[in-house]
Amino acid sequence: MNSNGYPASSFKIPTVKFTKLFINGHFVDSLSGGEFETIDPRTGEVIARIAEGTKEDIDLAVKASRLAFDHGPWPRMPAVERARIMMKWADLIDQHVEEIAALDAIDAGKLYHMLKAIEIPATANTIRYYAGAADKIHGEVLKPAREFHAYTLLEPVGVVGHIIPWNFPSIMFVSKVSPCLAAGCTMVLKPAEQTPLSALFYAHLAKLAGIPDGVLNVVPGFGATAGAAICSDMDIDKVSFTGSTEVGREVMRAAANSNLKPVSLELGGKSPFIIFDDADLDKAVELALMAVVYNKGEVCAAGSRVFVQEGIYDEFEKRLVEKAKAWVVGDPFDPNVQQGPQVDKKQFEKILSYIEHGKREGATLLTGGKRVGNKGYYIEPTIFSNVKEDMLIAQDEIFGPVIALMKFKTIEEAIKSANNSRYGLVAGVVTKSLDTANTMSRSIRAGVVWINCYFAFENDIPYGGCKMSGFGKDSGLEALHKYLHVKSVVTPIYNSPWL
Ligand code: ADP
Repeated sequence: MNSNGYPASSFKIPTVKFTKLFINGHFVDSLSGGEFETIDPRTGEVIARIAEGTKEDIDLAVKASRLAFDHGPWPRMPAVERARIMMKWADLIDQHVEEIAALDAIDAGKLYHMLKAIEIPATANTIRYYAGAADKIHGEVLKPAREFHAYTLLEPVGVVGHIIPWNFPSIMFVSKVSPCLAAGCTMVLKPAEQTPLSALFYAHLAKLAGIPDGVLNVVPGFGATAGAAICSDMDIDKVSFTGSTEVGREVMRAAANSNLKPVSLELGGKSPFIIFDDADLDKAVELALMAVVYNKGEVCAAGSRVFVQEGIYDEFEKRLVEKAKAWVVGDPFDPNVQQGPQVDKKQFEKILSYIEHGKREGATLLTGGKRVGNKGYYIEPTIFSNVKEDMLIAQDEIFGPVIALMKFKTIEEAIKSANNSRYGLVAGVVTKSLDTANTMSRSIRAGVVWINCYFAFENDIPYGGCKMSGFGKDSGLEALHKYLHVKSVVTPIYNSPWL
């Protein structure tokens, strides 16, 4: 039995094979020789020591990437050949699903069975989606007013820097790397310091698949050093970042202060999940809980502000609390477990301090609020009622399994409350009325609106927010266009001297 009273998993954790920086097609030590520890959130113990990339290692990786872009085969080969290599990479991932799933589970505290059944196969499919798009990238023939023949060329933007967070190490990795590869770019990616393991494994498989040296470089390290070096680099042409709004601001500032490289930012959220009186109550309860506790609440798209219409509020609250109490928290390798540990001590303490703040602000703690067990970073699913919209727990992104429950009367009130946030990432609406669904989807300021569903992520559906949730999409063909530059070419149709 583990500390939470559930049977300890007998799962055999695979040995970590890749712990060095992946630069120019080789695993290498950092130039300084420095290393950092990656920690198992189930216990707080060290899993492995990882080479720590700093500015000088980023410089080396950028140099390799620049060379691969300016002179290497990747941007020049027929797109169908790029696609073939990417497809091979996806097949190799399929052949290693269990090993990669175990790396993300132990590094991030994510559920092993979910990773194995859903997330890792999904990463391979994301690569296939963009591989399929690689040979369909083309510009347009334009219609100038005067007698010019004009058209656009879509060209790869160049060397790209990717900075990703720790909550979906695999999905974030492929959602950045695959459209960028399909576009013909080369790149340097920094995984989050909490979760470097799967990114290095993907780099190894990329090399086996035939992605040329220098095209994909993976440099683990910390944000303030390796991450900041990417943002300030004069030879990186674009930065694609996913992380907190605070760091997003730093990324933009560093880009502005260096070579004015364009950035795309997928940042925080405090998304509304709105349930109307006519909703299917069981479905609404299930979705509302999942919208917050899925992946232990470590999801930028979590629907953590739950608004329920007054006619069903009392019954909804009762059922939601029952369901949260039955939610199984424990070892992420145990197939009966529904929620693993928070990623690290810092996040764990941050969430508990928000819970204390919620109590002090006068919200009612209906269930949860405490750590689970006495080892690792487990937290009970937590529900607050009597939440006022200006409370910190209704405004700040907690990034943990904490629900702020609120009541509303009219659709106008629901719209106003939903938009009462500095963020605008996603929203969820549960209703049987087409009118209500249409009105809500057009009135909420968010990048995605899910109606009668939640977390309905798909490769072809653009994902990304507005307001302080950032800009730029990380899914769909929009993501491919993030890595393409539009060049206009113009020539006179006739040799007329006055044109
Ligand atoms: P979180 O708060 O969820 O950990 P962060 O925004 O701090 O999210 O981290 C997301 C990613 O940004 C990580 O890879 C982290 O190392 C990186 N990062 C943190 N600070 C900086 C920075 N100043 N410049 C560039 N990257 C950074």
